[in-house]
Amino acid sequence: MRSQPIMHDSIVSKTTSYLSELECSGCGRKFTPDKVHTFCPDCQSPLLARYDLTSVGKHADRDAIRHRQNGLWRWHELLPVRDPQNFVFLGEGDTALLHLPHIGKELGLSNLYVKDESTNPTGSFKARGLAAAVSKAKELGIEKVIIPTAGNAGGAMAAYAARAKIKALIYMPKDTPRANIEESRIAGAEVVLVDGLISDAAGMAGEKARAEGWFDLSTFKEPYRVEGKKIMGYELAEAFNWSLPDVIIYPTGGGTGLVGMWKAFAELEALGWLSNTRRPRMVSVQAEGCAPVVKAFENGASFCDFWTNAHTLASGLRVPKSFADALILHDIRESQGTAVAVNDESILDAQRKLGRMEGIFAAPEGAATLAALEALLKRKWVQPDERIVLFNTGSGLKYLDQF
Ligand SMILES: *Cc1c(COP(=O)(O)O)cnc(C)c1O
Ligand SMILES: [Zn+2]
Repeated sequence: MRSQPIMHDSIVSKTTSYLSELECSGCGRKFTPDKVHTFCPDCQSPLLARYDLTSVGKHADRDAIRHRQNGLWRWHELLPVRDPQNFVFLGEGDTALLHLPHIGKELGLSNLYVKDESTNPTGSFKARGLAAAVSKAKELGIEKVIIPTAGNAGGAMAAYAARAKIKALIYMPKDTPRANIEESRIAGAEVVLVDGLISDAAGMAGEKARAEGWFDLSTFKEPYRVEGKKIMGYELAEAFNWSLPDVIIYPTGGGTGLVGMWKAFAELEALGWLSNTRRPRMVSVQAEGCAPVVKAFENGASFCDFWTNAHTLASGLRVPKSFADALILHDIRESQGTAVAVNDESILDAQRKLGRMEGIFAAPEGAATLAALEALLKRKWVQPDERIVLFNTGSGLKYLDQF
């Protein structure tokens, strides 16, 4: 390893992270890391991790990182965990970027790709975020974690908490796919099934957390899940030989992946690791039955309204209002991107097409990105030679109850 460890006076062991501070995404207030933080106490916005990128640039070599052991932690300088003994690793990260030749040909697109996150532990990209958050929780001495979830986040949290010997408590709507309930229980988590939506589960989990001191790993209510997810952006840059694709189409629930990748692109630019500074246009995909981001984007709003009566078979997109709505909308606009709603029927069509034509059994959320691409082609929003990346965020195998 070529990187030089930095020493903090409060930490005796060697550190491999260049985390320097936390910054409120709303009011800019700074916080020292290495203490337990949630979100900004002044303005209730998410906190974002900042790194000493000048030192990373000096001591880390982007091309050497490629030769480290596969997975999320080969980017450890840019992740928040200081002591490698706290890396909780189950094989997450370094998923395949697959060219889609057959669907590309049908749609007249020569550079169509899918980043296939279905091969992550617990079958979805939630593994990335929970790997980072649970590892940091372990480092901070947290002993019990709680989460409200539409499904995959709960399963991922349960697995990483089991590995870290941390107690896990999960609140899920009772119509959550069965795979999510069982994978959580098998990993030893306590599961509470809620008669309602994820927002109801969030209310109950929040109360329990305050009453009994559980640490809440809800999307953006702590600063580190987004750090695990941002590594998708680093992997993309590396796969495209340190440039970036033209368009990224991403299914948006809580928005960690979209916000995380946009953060990664800014960090990459600051590090000077990109061969050009052209950034992708970010497309947020939601389901017609729950599209708060699309509605706010179209109305020119800076925040989302709570979406009442949310319904879609893509359970990961059944999020009536994200805690990071302002960040999501800001990043889409800064990227000159857009937001698209697709209906469940077109999601199922796209899911069959990905299976039949390319051999990929996508989660409905992942399939929604192909449905959105077809809508964008009709609007001529994408050009035939552009490099377009769809995100398949999970495995279709986790949703067998939909068939
Ligand atoms: C959670 C989830 C999403 C939404 O992800 P965010 O990054 O929170 O917007 C999309 N797809 C799947 C399969 C999910 O589990
Ligand atoms: Zn603030």
